[in-house]
Amino acid sequence: MELLFATANADKYHEARTILGPSVSIIMPSSLGFSGNIPETGLTLKENALQKALFLWEKFHIPCFADDTGLEVDGLNGAPGICSARYAGPACRPADNIRKLLEEMKDLTNRAARFRCVIALILDGTPRFFEGSVEGSILRTPKGRGGFGYDPVFLPDGFVKTFAEMTEEEKNTISHRKRALEKMALLFA
Ligand code: IMP
Repeated sequence: MELLFATANADKYHEARTILGPSVSIIMPSSLGFSGNIPETGLTLKENALQKALFLWEKFHIPCFADDTGLEVDGLNGAPGICSARYAGPACRPADNIRKLLEEMKDLTNRAARFRCVIALILDGTPRFFEGSVEGSILRTPKGRGGFGYDPVFLPDGFVKTFAEMTEEEKNTISHRKRALEKMALLFA
């Protein structure tokens, strides 16, 4: 089974390959010569995931999937949520997003947050959706050098290490993406 993953994010690609294992072969759009932008203008994670998967389906007509992830902070009414990637501005880096997040949360005692991931899969033109989330809290200072995005400030509930302090294997055991991908993988079991 070969699946096109609608992402240019090498970290996500690597995680998905590790999680899905050898029964599914994942390729990135760049391996088909596509290096343009995949539009992402929906108002929800589900709309965005569908938009990204449909974009590639219409271009290549091969089985494909897309994920969209948001970090939802309770004390910020669910922000950054769908704006997680560009929270600090259009061309911002992960460190800028973290800085802005910590600034917005500096007076908050309720640090509860979750990563939520929605996957849209298109095998034959009809989309299917899979969701995974992981509950946790946002630290006051970043910890750890691994992972990507908001990982250094996200402490999953029941653990003493942030996602950025965990090995890739540890993160992949409990992550939002793992939980969503696992549901999708049942289709190919
Ligand atoms: P998107 O799904 O690529 O739109 O991701 C939205 C934002 O969430 C980006 O800034 C990512 O860096 C961040 N993000 C997505 N997945 C993770 C994760 O597993 N850990 C930390 N940040 C993530």
